[in-house]
Amino acid sequence: MKADITRMETVGCLCGSSGAASRSVAAHDEASGESFTYLVCSACSLERLSPRPTLGHIGSYYPANYVPHVGHAPKGRADRLKRLVYEVVWAPRDEVRPELRPWRPLLRVLFWPIRRRSVLAFEPPDVRRVFEFGAARATDLLAFKAAGWQADGCEPSEQACALALAQGIHLQNATAETAVLASAAYTCILFNNVFEHIHDPVSVLRTCHRALQPGGVLMLIVPNHGSWAGRLFGAAWPGYDAPRHTWGWTPKSLRQQLAAAGFAIEYVHHQATGAWLWSSVLSMRHSPGQAGHVKRWLARNAAWAGIPFSVMAAWAGHGDFLRLVARKA
Ligand SMILES: [Zn+2]
Repeated sequence: MKADITRMETVGCLCGSSGAASRSVAAHDEASGESFTYLVCSACSLERLSPRPTLGHIGSYYPANYVPHVGHAPKGRADRLKRLVYEVVWAPRDEVRPELRPWRPLLRVLFWPIRRRSVLAFEPPDVRRVFEFGAARATDLLAFKAAGWQADGCEPSEQACALALAQGIHLQNATAETAVLASAAYTCILFNNVFEHIHDPVSVLRTCHRALQPGGVLMLIVPNHGSWAGRLFGAAWPGYDAPRHTWGWTPKSLRQQLAAAGFAIEYVHHQATGAWLWSSVLSMRHSPGQAGHVKRWLARNAAWAGIPFSVMAAWAGHGDFLRLVARKA
């Protein structure tokens, strides 16, 4: 099937470079049967989907059963572990359960490698008011609420908004570009696997800067297109989810755009994700045309090697995901 060109648009790089792309990645969308191209900017390394569906048309590329919008039952054990990480590493002492307090120094050492695996992985401010873009079923906002935050957000899927409301979180049924945020109202703004989906990151970052109080935290979790897995597996790596992922962020391009928007970076953490690697490998197995003989052999015989590979990549600063915390300068 060929893409309808009246609903498509071409885009330039956010850095303003007019130079030719250093390389491109062809990605196929199984659901629509359409093919797309990511162009890699030779100046700033940001990857962009171009041509891409317009903002008014992108919604039709999200299937009714898109996992973040409907999803599975909440992951009770994982959520409890993240809460424990928050109490042990980040929470003020009076928020820590009394029975945990004597064990806190020891637990801090044990949890050090996973201390940033939480949406609450930063020094909590006195005023706790958070806004999450693309909040889906509000799983993250519930974690904030449990830590005493007033929680707001937006979400383009009506179905996800209804699921969030059933859990007591009212979301604006809006895209990131059309959501309404009061000025200097928030002390944290969160994008959890959302920033790579939005059409106009520059204007959305401007909104964030205006809506945050001075010193307020911006937290972004995005697939890392500078990761070893992304470079090795190409379009089979799940970061290339065309046309839903409209931008492919790298540490360099993310730092550059945040600095231009008036944010100071506190940390960029590389995260390993074994499951993503598995998925890349399996997707190559299902689309053998994309992979050479060596990769196909690896997919059949050495998929188990994915997890240590992913951990090594994160240690080396080329992990599958980036977790970034910045503050309004
Ligand atoms: Zn660029």
